[in-house]
Amino acid sequence: MAKVAFIGLGNMGGPMAANLIKAGHEVKVFDLNPAAVDALKAQGAGSGDSAQQIAADADFVVSMLPAGKHVRGLYLGTESAKGLIEVVKAGCVLIDCSTIDAASARVVAEAAAAKGLEFIDAPVSGGTAGAAAGTLTFICGGTDGAFEAAKVVLANMGANIFHAGGPGAGQVAKICNNMLLSVLMVGTSEALSLGIDHGLDPKVLSDIMKVSSGGNWTLEKYNPCPGVMDNAPSSKGYQGGFMVDLMVKDLGLSQEAALGSQSSTPMGALARSLYVSHARAGNGKRDFSSIFEHFAKGE
Ligand code: NAD
Repeated sequence: MAKVAFIGLGNMGGPMAANLIKAGHEVKVFDLNPAAVDALKAQGAGSGDSAQQIAADADFVVSMLPAGKHVRGLYLGTESAKGLIEVVKAGCVLIDCSTIDAASARVVAEAAAAKGLEFIDAPVSGGTAGAAAGTLTFICGGTDGAFEAAKVVLANMGANIFHAGGPGAGQVAKICNNMLLSVLMVGTSEALSLGIDHGLDPKVLSDIMKVSSGGNWTLEKYNPCPGVMDNAPSSKGYQGGFMVDLMVKDLGLSQEAALGSQSSTPMGALARSLYVSHARAGNGKRDFSSIFEHFAKGE
């Protein structure tokens, strides 16, 4: 079993770190939010005063942070703190599971390689339920060596582990996936709302569409209409889950990528616009399935 330093214990990182503890690893955790650290300590984690402190003797570092600037700051350093690539021991494998821009992932991978360290971008799919169940999909970008080394730890948090390509490739695949997810969530929300407006029961309509040609992940696992699926964020006041602000970030990343490659992504552009309006209306911290309210009568 390995010594793992886990940094970023939010909706995703918390349950992911808990699964590493359950698998028998010696896990030390750090988050800017002390309550998040305490929750993991209660489950058997060690802790420290800083990310640098807990990473110093680690075999693996796993990070699960909001965006590229946080990941660059953690690994490359800030005005007030050394980057982890300066403080970890030789042979330590660096695994970033956050969804960030591919350019940041490549910059960190290059800096790590210059120090003789393996770094892998390993963003995830599967949501908070997948994080808790240990069934996440990891979408990795990095060298073959980094991928093989990281698999040992990733296997304790996920069910599917893909090697998308070299450094940054995991992030490119991830933003393609999330752009598609946003389109599916918006489309599912408007289809359900149309049915409801015409007197249909959303549970019945969901059951029909789930096994028909409109079937998709949001209908199977994450129904946006309150009351259809007990465990979905929609039935819990759209709390927990995947925040609208994070979806706005990912849709910005996919549009930036599309500009860079001159790709046509009209559905992604429209979904981004809808999610930006939704965030500006005060929904940034709610789950992304709350876009359903944009279509439901009464808003
Ligand atoms: P979150 O906001 O719940 O958690 C982020 C955590 O990072 C917070 O606890 C915050 O205090 C901590 N943090 C921020 N900066 C830090 C720093 N410098 N040092 C230490 N801790 C720091 O976000 P989340 O939902 O857990 O998402 C994390 C990442 O995973 C994001 O990139 C997101 O896009 C991605 N993601 C989320 C989901 C989901 O369903 N929530 C699914 C797939 C991918």
